[in-house]
Amino acid sequence: MATTYVYSTDPRARVTHVGNLHGTACGFVFFASFHVSEDAPPARPICKRCIARAHAAALREARLECRLVEDPEKNARVRRARIAARRAALIAARQAQRDALIIAALKEGLANVAVARRLHMGLRTAVRRISTAQRRAGVKTRFQWGYKIGFAEGRAQGHAES
Ligand SMILES: [Zn+2]
Repeated sequence: MATTYVYSTDPRARVTHVGNLHGTACGFVFFASFHVSEDAPPARPICKRCIARAHAAALREARLECRLVEDPEKNARVRRARIAARRAALIAARQAQRDALIIAALKEGLANVAVARRLHMGLRTAVRRISTAQRRAGVKTRFQWGYKIGFAEGRAQGHAES
């Protein structure tokens, strides 16, 4: 999932929003000129509302997916399994969204401290989230992680072009 950022060209602006040319996730309207970029200025944390909206959007998508695979059968076992699957999908969506924001920051070369500042979390939380995300990706080092992501993105691009 590619995350792009929108931020004011005014150096006094305090936050970066998640969004694109058409708008921000939180609905913020720029009155002055702004930049759209894959990188965010490290000194500006991401808008909390944008983070919340991005999480909400991922959950909505997961819920929709759960509904699409719903089984017409109504017995209790099927229903329980379905509830468990739905819960798992929601957790996975939340994790994926969280990981996407962390990966976007790491791709810019931000250090742990800067990642923490951008995502409004303490340093220890950031370090824990980063290592959890890394473990989930099934890699042992950041180098391996970056290589894996780069490889996957290269393949995706190759498919898009062919
Ligand atoms: Zn925002």
